[in-house]
Amino acid sequence: MENHDYDLFVIGAGSGGVRAARMAAEFGARVAVAEDRYMGGTCVNVGCVPKKLYVYAAEFGKSFTDARNFGWDSDRSAFNWATLRDNKKAEISRLNGVYDNLLAGVKVEVISGRARIVDAHTVAVGEQRYSAEKILIATGGWPHIPEFPGSEHAISSNEVFDLAQFPRRLAIVGGGYIAVEFAGIFNGLGAQVSQLYRGPLFLRGFDADIRAHAAQEIRKTGVDLRFEINVKAIAARDSGLEVQLTDETTLEVDAVLYATGRKANLEGLGLDNVNVKISDAGNIEVDEKYCTSEPSIFALGDVTGGIELTPVALAEGMSFARREFGGLENMVDYDFIPTAVFCQPNIGTVGFTEEDARARFGRIRVFKSTFKPMKHSISGRDEKTFMKLIVDQASDRVVGAHMMGPDAGEIMQGIAIAMRAGATKALFDTTIGIHPTAAEEFVTMRKPWSED
Ligand code: FAD
Ligand code: NDP
Repeated sequence: MENHDYDLFVIGAGSGGVRAARMAAEFGARVAVAEDRYMGGTCVNVGCVPKKLYVYAAEFGKSFTDARNFGWDSDRSAFNWATLRDNKKAEISRLNGVYDNLLAGVKVEVISGRARIVDAHTVAVGEQRYSAEKILIATGGWPHIPEFPGSEHAISSNEVFDLAQFPRRLAIVGGGYIAVEFAGIFNGLGAQVSQLYRGPLFLRGFDADIRAHAAQEIRKTGVDLRFEINVKAIAARDSGLEVQLTDETTLEVDAVLYATGRKANLEGLGLDNVNVKISDAGNIEVDEKYCTSEPSIFALGDVTGGIELTPVALAEGMSFARREFGGLENMVDYDFIPTAVFCQPNIGTVGFTEEDARARFGRIRVFKSTFKPMKHSISGRDEKTFMKLIVDQASDRVVGAHMMGPDAGEIMQGIAIAMRAGATKALFDTTIGIHPTAAEEFVTMRKPWSED
């Protein structure tokens, strides 16, 4: 180890890279991190954090209207895009500084610039070369926009946060997390939003009932949600962008956001110089210890094409550092990872969909509940909460929990702990509810909706 400049050279100061670097340094390793864009990576700069700030902004709009029937008589305020955008920028700069300090505090050297692997133990940043016992690739992903006539007019989630002008008319292509969340954000901020998805029902991979409920609720909020449709071409006109659709109609908008997935960020990384295998989908292949086919080179987080969520990258970074530098065997448990889509209202989910649970466990019991949240009994807002539990009949274990409703993301974190602890439906039933909340419905759903 002593022959190298560092024990660990991390490429990418995002969620996974920073966590691995910090923990390895805390175990006494000599660590450097190269970052060519922004401290904190996607999540902090163009992902989770600015997205959630914009979600808060979007949700104020309806709250002003909701408040009227509760006796509040103030006029709805006007929305100013520049204020939101610039306050967001200031907060992200503050967070970039926090990340710098975190790394400096544990003596991790931060090297600014794009890193390129030269050989199994050498990384170059610009003209400078650094040697390391181990190299960790944590370069994350990058938005993928398919090529088609006029695709150069489309923007991705990287650009959407900092648009110079608020897009009054916005087309969003895709039916995954990003498309759904940004449809909610811009609709809430007052734009006219059309969301275009190529398949019959968006949010592929989520429980079928959640997908159907989400389509219904999102349409109620005013998003023009269209399925079985795609973009053929985009042309720039004086009055805006003309989007030609596969059903031979056109849309005129101010911006077109493509949220059609992300690909591993491998550009200029120098992987040709080493024996690191890439999968057919273009991700770095790793074993269960995040080791690539080159024994001194590791990779984790989005670049490996696993579950693209910040807490997963963090867990992988910690597991890697503990094992490689702390002498602790610490595998990440990928079962029952909860997740949320921050649309209006939120979707929160953990465990199996009904379809997957039936395939995995055979006979299941399904519990469902749809209701109007108490707040909207007075606000007058037409919004329904949906909750669903899926139970393995043989063990009585709750193996799936799904919700679309206010704060579903917050509620689902606690349910995930119970499910990971193996909670049975009987245990849910004997848990006393918190009244009056929506969450108490999860412990009061008595009568199965269906039983195999
Ligand atoms: P990243 O965070 O992407 O970090 C990679 C870093 O490597 C970047 O800073 C990049 O500049 C740097 N880099 C790349 N190549 C090089 C190189 N050659 N040299 C030097 N530096 C390099 N997840 C959630 O859990 N919740 C959410 O609400 C959520 N919202 C999201 C919203 C959006 C719009 C997006 C795009 C993503 C969101 N995600 C969310 C996903 C989450 O951001 C990612 O899963 C997470 O950031 C992955 O972390 P990572 O460490 O693998 O990579
Ligand atoms: P997703 O993979 O979630 O969704 C991509 C969407 O684009 C799918 O609906 C897909 O359709 C569609 N699509 C793909 N290619 C094309 C094409 N050529 N033409 C038209 N449509 C296409 O990716 P996102 O970009 O939404 O997000 C990337 C990842 O980031 C997410 O998977 C998630 O892990 C993470 N993320 C997490 C968030 C959270 O935790 N709240 C928020 C935002 C992102 P089809 O379904 O038919 O394949």
